[in-house]
Amino acid sequence: MKIKPDWVLPNLREAQKRTHQPIQTVDSFQIDETMQFLGSGKTYYLSTFGCQANERDSETLAGILDAMGFASAPDEEHADVILLNTCAIRQNAEEKVLGEVGSLKRLYRENPDLVIGVCGCMAQEEKLTNILLEKYPQVRLIFGTHNLQELPSMLYDVMMNHKRVVKVYSKEGEVYENLPVHRFGKHKAWVNIMYGCDKFCTYCIVPYTRGKQRSRTKDRILAEVRQLKAEGYKEITLLGQNVNAYGKDLQADYSFADLLAETAQIGIPRIRFMTSHPWDFSDAMIDTIAAYDNIMPAVHLPLQSGDNEILKQMGRRYTKESYLELFDTMKARIPNVAISTDIIVGFPNETDEQFEHTLDVVRYCKFDNAYTFIFSARPGTPAARMADAVDHETKQKRLQTLNTLWNRFALEKNKQYEGKVVQVLTDGASKRNADVWSGYTDTNKLVNFTGTGIHTGDFVNVQIETAKTFSLDGKAVL
Ligand code: SAM
Ligand code: SF4
Repeated sequence: MKIKPDWVLPNLREAQKRTHQPIQTVDSFQIDETMQFLGSGKTYYLSTFGCQANERDSETLAGILDAMGFASAPDEEHADVILLNTCAIRQNAEEKVLGEVGSLKRLYRENPDLVIGVCGCMAQEEKLTNILLEKYPQVRLIFGTHNLQELPSMLYDVMMNHKRVVKVYSKEGEVYENLPVHRFGKHKAWVNIMYGCDKFCTYCIVPYTRGKQRSRTKDRILAEVRQLKAEGYKEITLLGQNVNAYGKDLQADYSFADLLAETAQIGIPRIRFMTSHPWDFSDAMIDTIAAYDNIMPAVHLPLQSGDNEILKQMGRRYTKESYLELFDTMKARIPNVAISTDIIVGFPNETDEQFEHTLDVVRYCKFDNAYTFIFSARPGTPAARMADAVDHETKQKRLQTLNTLWNRFALEKNKQYEGKVVQVLTDGASKRNADVWSGYTDTNKLVNFTGTGIHTGDFVNVQIETAKTFSLDGKAVL
């Protein structure tokens, strides 16, 4: 691969650095006149992988593309520009993206003007960007998480100057305001309250791919929430890798609990937030969640492991005991709260006994939902350098055991809904049957229900008839 002088390649060492430089807010976004009509008569297709932060970034990318005159295409086959917004959290997420890039080669062969771009977290990794450059000539554009706002000039260079553009900054990052947004949902919206992460859990690549923790100012966030209310949105989710650390990087005496309360007062019917790190979860937050009816009683509280030694090696800053204390306090103080979690099995050298400690916590907490993963070594992270004596088969068995256990409790929890009437915010009709609708309860339970005269975005009272492990079935009632 011949490195071009104007390429900016990712550098993990740079991405690790944290300084005391103040965070810059940039709010002057303009599309150069020469680029304003680049998209006229052309279409784009966005494929998004990974977490809600990526979903929200894709809405910004779509907003910029709309502003350049592009129209959205129904699928990749009909697009002039295809952007894959990628995830780097585990190796299998990357394999999925490489598979998709591979399958796009045919379209590129048929249409050499097709622009295939890879952006997001995977682009921030040196190794992956090098693989894309060497093995996937169909990828004409690579950019990272810090420069979505440069999309117009990057696309111009690819489309008009026929360059292969690679621009991945490895830095702490800024806060960009006033970027265009094309929201994909009409009744539910994401609201970024902060970017990046400074926790550096030893297994996690996010602090390298997304930069340092940068909170948006409360005025900007609240203005966005008011705007969403005015547009008729029914539910918002406040987003950040670690929302309860909100504001710690700003020189203001204003916490996530304060932000949550002011957001609730704006009056959007449903407010959610994610993700919460158990270490920063304050008493004031618990009180605020309990105090407002429109803050949903559903908390995602990643456990990761139930063993103190593993938690220490993960750099999680809490113990099993302090996690359980927080869990008990939430259960006692937030009426009807549902708690979900993330768990990693097979962290390097995890013993059977340490894994048992995780199962013990699951037995105690009986989580409403859990996202469970096998540890995946991420290049550049401390855990990736740890020798690991546990074989993959053992890790797979542990994952299976864990899933069987939490599924049993999730079903038990869901059974408690049978016969009850719950309020559901309707997401849409089933693709197979126009009379079957789906949506979520306040506690974030997926409900499939029958009924007539229902519209997407309606709040509907649903009588639950049958509980399953991952969803509830019922019928609409008056
Ligand atoms: N910020 C959130 C927190 O602190 O819990 C999580 C963000 S991460 C996008 C979502 C989940 O992916 C984590 O909670 C963790 O369980 C999992 N994860 C992160 N790195 C991983 C790795 N290297 N291998 C397996 N799972 C991982
Ligand atoms: Fe990753 Fe830990 Fe930050 Fe969550 S808190 S994003 S797991 S480093």
